[in-house]
Amino acid sequence: MPPDPASIRRLVLLGHPVAHSLSPAFQNAALRAAGLAPTYAALDVAPAALGETLARLVAEGAAGNATIPHKEAVAARCDVRSAVAERVGAVNTWWRAPDGALVGDNTDVAGVAAAVAERLGRAPDAPVVALLGAGGSAGAVLAAAERWPGARVRVWSRTADRARALAERFGAEVAASPAQAVRGASLVVNATPLGLRDDDPFPVAAASLESDAAVLDLVYRRGETAWVRAARALARPAADGLTMLIAQGAAAFTRWFGVPPDLDAMWGAVGGRPGAPRGR
Ligand code: NAP
Repeated sequence: MPPDPASIRRLVLLGHPVAHSLSPAFQNAALRAAGLAPTYAALDVAPAALGETLARLVAEGAAGNATIPHKEAVAARCDVRSAVAERVGAVNTWWRAPDGALVGDNTDVAGVAAAVAERLGRAPDAPVVALLGAGGSAGAVLAAAERWPGARVRVWSRTADRARALAERFGAEVAASPAQAVRGASLVVNATPLGLRDDDPFPVAAASLESDAAVLDLVYRRGETAWVRAARALARPAADGLTMLIAQGAAAFTRWFGVPPDLDAMWGAVGGRPGAPRGR
């Protein structure tokens, strides 16, 4: 049930905390490039205030995104969820349908798929995926992997019960350690927050990756993460979370307005595509 684009008065990212988010910068750049009137803003909402805030925003004609820690709670409040949001159990994109229903979708899955395809130059073929982490974004990775023919996924998490529960839901395997997860893996995904801070250890040693393994780090930071740089120095194709962030945002823009955004405008707002000459 798509929205009537003309009914969208503003766009709001619900998170807690959320001030660090890059989404307002690149979504506003895309809105300007498309000549659309609504603006996009981040709103810090404590979990206890989520229900009342979301209801008020929807009544005001807002649509938007949700991020940590609200994705599951927004999913629970939606009247209608897309099949992929149902599968992941989380909503990151929401809007009001013409009949008044609150609709939730999950564009993180499309973001993962796009980031992997961009790095490999194609969708992966029967990949063995090592998935490090078992939180909300790991669910999006597993849902993306369901669309890769012949994919096998091994999940590792420092809380073993969480890895087991997620693996069971998606028919994946559980690894006992990061080293075991990456053995024989052709795609290695970091879905933990490791790499956000300067003194974080790597999710797994770059030298332990198979020689043909591609790397997707969901974490992003200025100048890419140290793990991505280390993997690339060892000739593994690697992308950090910025490609996924832009791709999930582009998919959300398309859901709201029925047309894709200007990707160059989005990338320009966050300093340019990795590897592109600066200022592009
Ligand atoms: P989450 O639901 O909190 O899950 C985090 C996972 O990482 C859990 O399995 C957790 O294990 C594990 N973990 C946390 N700290 C760890 C540590 N020090 N060592 C090892 N494992 C650790 O978070 P999420 O929503 O999945 O997000 C994970 C990361 O992806 C975040 O950094 C987030 O910013 C990033 N992300 C990026 C995008 C994007 O568009 N690029 C989108 C979504 C998320 P426990 O259960 O043991 O705590």
